[in-house]
Amino acid sequence: MKKIGILGSTGSIGTQTLEIVRSNGDLQVTALAAGSNVREMERQIREFSPLYAVMWAPESADELKKKVADTGTKVLQGMDGLLKIAVMEQMDVLVTAIVGMIGIRPTIAAIQAGKTIALANKETLVTAGHIIMPLAAEKKVSILPVDSEHSAIFQSMHGENKDRVRKILLTASGGPFRGKKREELLDITVEDALRHPNWSMGRKITVDSSTLVNKGLEVIEAKWLFGVEPEDIQVVVHPQSIIHSMVEYADGGIMAQLGMPDMKLPIQYALFYPDRRPMEGKRVDFYQLSSMTFEKPDTETFRGLSMAYDAVAKGGSMPTVYNAANEKAVALFLERKIRFLEIYDLIQGAMEQHKVIQNPSVEEILETEAAVYEYIDASRRV
Ligand code: NAD
Ligand code: MG
Repeated sequence: MKKIGILGSTGSIGTQTLEIVRSNGDLQVTALAAGSNVREMERQIREFSPLYAVMWAPESADELKKKVADTGTKVLQGMDGLLKIAVMEQMDVLVTAIVGMIGIRPTIAAIQAGKTIALANKETLVTAGHIIMPLAAEKKVSILPVDSEHSAIFQSMHGENKDRVRKILLTASGGPFRGKKREELLDITVEDALRHPNWSMGRKITVDSSTLVNKGLEVIEAKWLFGVEPEDIQVVVHPQSIIHSMVEYADGGIMAQLGMPDMKLPIQYALFYPDRRPMEGKRVDFYQLSSMTFEKPDTETFRGLSMAYDAVAKGGSMPTVYNAANEKAVALFLERKIRFLEIYDLIQGAMEQHKVIQNPSVEEILETEAAVYEYIDASRRV
C-alpha cells in the first residue's frame, strides 16, 4: 500500500488525485490539506479516512473539528499543520497541489524527510528551484512532475542519455485569446479569461493560461526540473493540446508524449512511476483529429512569456518577483479591481523596481514576496 498525502485536496488537481485513488486499490490517503472548503474536506475525510486533515483558515479548522469529531481524523491548522503532515512517518508520496508560494516550506520539509514529491505546485520551483533541486539530489528524493508538459518531457526522456538533449519543445494551447491583439484585450472580463478551450483547472492557473504567464512559469519550472538553460526551451503553440511537449536530441530525433488533455494521466503516471497503470477515458482518434497545427507564440501581445525569460535571465530573486506580482495581480483581476492588461503592467512595474538578491534563502524569498505585495498595494493607492 503506497501512502499519500495531498496538499490542496479540494482543488482541481487534488480532487483528480482522489479519483485516481478511487480507481486503484493500492493507494492509501493518510493526510489531506486545503484552504477553507470545510464541506468538501468533511466529505473527503468520510470517504478516505486520513490520519490528518489540515485547514489553512483557523475558523475553517475549528468548524471542521466539530464536524468530524465522530471520525478518527485529527484536524490541524495553518502552516504548522502543513509542516507536520509534510514530515509524517505514515506517508511515502506528497502530492503538492496547493496553489501559490505557500507550498515552498512544506515541500522543503517533505524532501528533508525523504518523501517522494509529486509536484503540481509550479510556483514552488519557480521561486525556490535553486534550493529544492539540490536538496532533493542530496536526500535522493524524486521530484516527479504532475504538470502535463513536464510529465510529457519526463516521459520523453525515459531511458535517454540526458547529455544528448538538444532542446525542449514546450507546447502551449495559446489559451482563450490566441490570435487576439492588444486592442482586443482591453475589455476582457473575468468570465472571458476563465473560459479555457482545452483544460478545466483552478481559477488562478486558468487566468495564467490566458496571459501566457502559465507558460512563463513552466519555462522556469522546466529549467529546474530538467537542468536545461532557458534558451534551450522553445515554446510552441499547439492549439489542439494533443502533444503535451517534446524533447529534441543531438541527432535531430524528437520524442513526444501525446494523449487527450486530461490531467489524470500525468497525475497517475507520477503516482505509479515507472509503471503505467490502465486508465479509462477518451483516447486520441487520429481519424477524427485529422490535423495538428503549430504556431509561434505572440509574445508582444502576451507579454507574460517574455517577462518570464527576462526574470530567469536576471536570476536570483527576480523569478520570485515575477511570480509574486502575478499572484497578486491575478487575485486583483479576479476581484474585478484591475483590468486584464494591467496584470502585465503590475508584473513589469514590480520587476523594474526590484534589486536582485542572488541565491535567496527561503526567508529572503518570502520577504521578497511580501515586499512585492506591499509595492503593488502602495502603487495602487497613489
Ligand atoms: P485550485 O485552485 O483548484 O486548488 C487549490 C487547492 O489548494 C485547493 O484545495 C485549496 O483549498 C488549496 N489551498 C489554497 N490555499 C491554501 C492554503 N493556504 N493552505 C492549504 N491549502 C490551500 O488549483 P489547481 O488548479 O488544482 O492548481 C494547484 C497547483 O497545481 C497550482 O500550482 C497549479 O499551477 C498547478 N497545476 C494545475 C493544473 C490543473 O490542471 N489544475 C495543471 C498543472 C499544474
Ligand atoms: Mg501545464
